[in-house]
Amino acid sequence: MTGDDLTGTVIDALVAFWAATALLVCVAYAFWVFLATAGRSAGRALGPFRAGRADSRVLTIGTEPAHPSYWPAQSWIDTGGAVGRSYRALWTLWRSHWMATVAGRLFLGRRPGTNRRGANAFTRLVMRLVAPGTAVGATAAALLATALHTLVLVVFCALVALVWASWWLTVAVVRGAERVWLLLRGVRTVCPHPRCHRPFPLAAHPCPQCRAVHTALRPGRHGVFRHACRCGARLPSSLLSGRGRTPAECPSCARPLPPSVGTTRVVHVPLIGGSSSGKTMLVAAVVAGLRSWSERGNLTMEFASDADQQDGEALDRQLDRNDWANKTQGDQRAWMILVGRGRRRRLLYLYDPMGESLEQADRVREQQYLAHADGVLFVVDVLADRTVRRALHGADDTLADGARPAAQGPVDTYQGLTGELAALTGGRGDLPVAVVVTKRDVLDRIEALPAPGARVDEWLGAIGLGGLVRGFTHDFKATGFWAVSASAATGTGALDSERRRAAEPVLWLLARSGLRVAALVESRGPVPRQGRRTDTRKQGVRQG
Ligand SMILES: [Zn+2]
Ligand SMILES: [Zn+2]
Repeated sequence: MTGDDLTGTVIDALVAFWAATALLVCVAYAFWVFLATAGRSAGRALGPFRAGRADSRVLTIGTEPAHPSYWPAQSWIDTGGAVGRSYRALWTLWRSHWMATVAGRLFLGRRPGTNRRGANAFTRLVMRLVAPGTAVGATAAALLATALHTLVLVVFCALVALVWASWWLTVAVVRGAERVWLLLRGVRTVCPHPRCHRPFPLAAHPCPQCRAVHTALRPGRHGVFRHACRCGARLPSSLLSGRGRTPAECPSCARPLPPSVGTTRVVHVPLIGGSSSGKTMLVAAVVAGLRSWSERGNLTMEFASDADQQDGEALDRQLDRNDWANKTQGDQRAWMILVGRGRRRRLLYLYDPMGESLEQADRVREQQYLAHADGVLFVVDVLADRTVRRALHGADDTLADGARPAAQGPVDTYQGLTGELAALTGGRGDLPVAVVVTKRDVLDRIEALPAPGARVDEWLGAIGLGGLVRGFTHDFKATGFWAVSASAATGTGALDSERRRAAEPVLWLLARSGLRVAALVESRGPVPRQGRRTDTRKQGVRQG
């Protein structure tokens, strides 16, 4: 055997020994240690650092006072934490423990566990001989464990991505379905409160526990069906889970909204007329009329909120006491009444703005309601018109004065309105107008005036207001004319026929919004017929 052969044999033997050592270290021990370490670190990263303590990884509550949902963002923060922490643990275990401590000490002839020098030259030699195999075995184990761990992480991330995608898909489907449903129903929400009247896509919802205002209570990153308020209360965030029944407020002016505002199509009807032209009485008569139709089973009618219910009862009590309906004080919010027929419902916003505001163009512009109007209820107090009044003398004049005519004539009010209407609606001219002549009970008793007949528009022409009629016909897409005695329709001893007639202008406007009530108006003929003079003469002293 030559020297070279001997060297070759020794090297072969050494390589075989190191390979055996490496295999033993890797398969029997190090691989499992690496794998366990990676798994444990990932698991720890997914759990809380210290139970019950604040955790910097948890997403904080932003402007919306709700806890962010887990799936949209926190799941990825946690997944990233698990990935990073497990790879760092693998690297640290290989470098600090296996290389620096175990292999390093063995190369120096020291015990890996205690760092004590080998007892004699032989043990030190054995230690030095196993060192390379150990280093190779540990490195192989680290690589194998990393590969397997990576595979597990890939599957894990794919599952997280799947849940994340399904979550967002659910959000998109629920939100889209709600959007389509609202679009089909023509729901377009506008604030009913004076000096606001702003449209908004989504109402704000105060938390019933802590009053924190949620402005994004819809399916989104705070949850699909429910949002968890920062106080812990759970709020329904979808129409499916009951958001429509949660108390709501206007996101612009923070005043309360009726619960049905987000689910029912609103029909916006401003009530235009000079101060003291009988608007409040007309509203009372309209409410009484709707109630009468509803009692006959022709439609359903209810106040949209408790506040409306109380206001309605207060107005009824006032009328029962034979009291003049108070002149609208301050800014009046809209009357909100739910009217339904068949499966359709409409939320009627009936505005009774201050009479004075229409006499000042700036105030009209301030009152945004005209921009969203679906129709106009124009109240005509003919006794306030100069031409009409010039024809009245003696007892007729006294009667007219007793009816407290409006401060401004209908022609002036109309001129103020049309200018503003064109500015606010971009001259779209597609609005219907229901013209209502009020105080008919007084008109019937004035001898100098012809009695308002079946054709109220012709009657207006006959008493010298033909220009006004032509204005309405020209500026509006559709016009309807009525003469109403609000006093005969309200209070004690109200006539049922008068009540129903008082609601007709509003029903006519509602019918144009798609509510099937046109038959109720038409059942009385295309143009409302008036009662005989004697009907209304019996009605007390109140004027509408
Ligand atoms: Zn709360
Ligand atoms: Zn508002």
